[in-house]
Amino acid sequence: MKVLVINCGSSSLKYQLIDMTDESVLAKGLVERIGIEGSKITHKANGKKAIIEQPMENHKIALELVVKALLDEEHGAIKSMDEIDAVGHRVVHGGEKFATSVVITDEVIKTMEDCSDLAPLHNPPNIIGIKACKEIMPNTPMTGSFDTAFHQTMSKEAYIYPLPYELYEKYGIRRYGFHGTSHKYVAQRAGAILNKNIEDLKIITCHLGNGASLAAVKNGKCVDTSMGLTPLEGLAMGTRCGDIDPAIIPFLMEKEGLDISGVNNLINKKSGVLGISGISSDFRDIENAANEGNDRAKLALDKFANRVKKYIGAYAAIMGGVDAIVFTAGLGENSISMREQICEGLDFLGVKVDSDKNNVRGEEVVVSTDDAKVKVLVVPTNEELMIARDTKALV
Ligand code: ADP
Repeated sequence: MKVLVINCGSSSLKYQLIDMTDESVLAKGLVERIGIEGSKITHKANGKKAIIEQPMENHKIALELVVKALLDEEHGAIKSMDEIDAVGHRVVHGGEKFATSVVITDEVIKTMEDCSDLAPLHNPPNIIGIKACKEIMPNTPMTGSFDTAFHQTMSKEAYIYPLPYELYEKYGIRRYGFHGTSHKYVAQRAGAILNKNIEDLKIITCHLGNGASLAAVKNGKCVDTSMGLTPLEGLAMGTRCGDIDPAIIPFLMEKEGLDISGVNNLINKKSGVLGISGISSDFRDIENAANEGNDRAKLALDKFANRVKKYIGAYAAIMGGVDAIVFTAGLGENSISMREQICEGLDFLGVKVDSDKNNVRGEEVVVSTDDAKVKVLVVPTNEELMIARDTKALV
């Protein structure tokens, strides 16, 4: 069985064709600048890379060119479109409606549209991708996997905000959480690597990329996560502030004369480690600057680590202990020093990192000492494979 996984943004589209017999990637690529001048596809298959540059007015045209690339004699991966048995789409927000991946029907699309209010930047392009794909492959089964779905097992006390309850009923204001597909994948991998049933484990998964979140996964189910109604809450991130005193917002609006979009821009795009360091949102730049003695770069890294550490403590308390901590995504997989800094001082919990084992980037490995009570793992995330597995199970 071959599954095409699609992750459609407003002007971009990522895809992977996965052979589910051995879970190998047959082809993958990225379409950029859809609907903008300079559209291009970077396509890889069979160890070959092709750059396809031609105008792509909309997502349907982009998808037609992706299918053409997949069928190409030189750099393609399949001989006929019929070889694509199913398509799995990533969808950002499933609200309270979707607690698992689902087969897409007209009714499901309608429900996804109803969730768009909660993710106005993300859900509409996801749905455009689904509709375009349905036009091109009307007879191929399609599924949707939601970033929020894995977190739907949280209890009400974990997801309710201490605001007037009617606002939850009226607008659906509550914690939803994001990166769910990644948290689910790495938690499952951790169980497999440790040779333990995930249902017997208390795991804290740390998805640390440009956007960053933690999840507390008890007995295989998410019981809490750091992102909230939107992906702004929780950790300090590349450019997002994460948790701050909410009173700062009206204070800033008054003092700096900011309107809603101005303050939104400040907390989403100008804050986080970029805001503290004044250097970059990219942790590599900040690590380099800190190594050269830049105090604000060091402060940004210290703040980032401090926040992750606080959440680890909180989640260990909520779960009544922790058996494993998993690091994933760009920073979690690659930053040796950040993993070390986060775990430093957590020996009271039973966390002990082995510096030699931790000296890895982007590999699936246990980095805690053999005698450590809490296992610390690095697991490269693979959201596409998780979506493809869900798709296979559903169709
Ligand atoms: P997203 O998908 O949210 O854009 P990624 O998971 O790709 O983010 O992570 C991007 C982040 O990972 C960047 O801030 C980058 O600095 C960081 N990163 C990637 N490689 C390294 C590395 N070798 N050392 C430190 N940070 C790294």
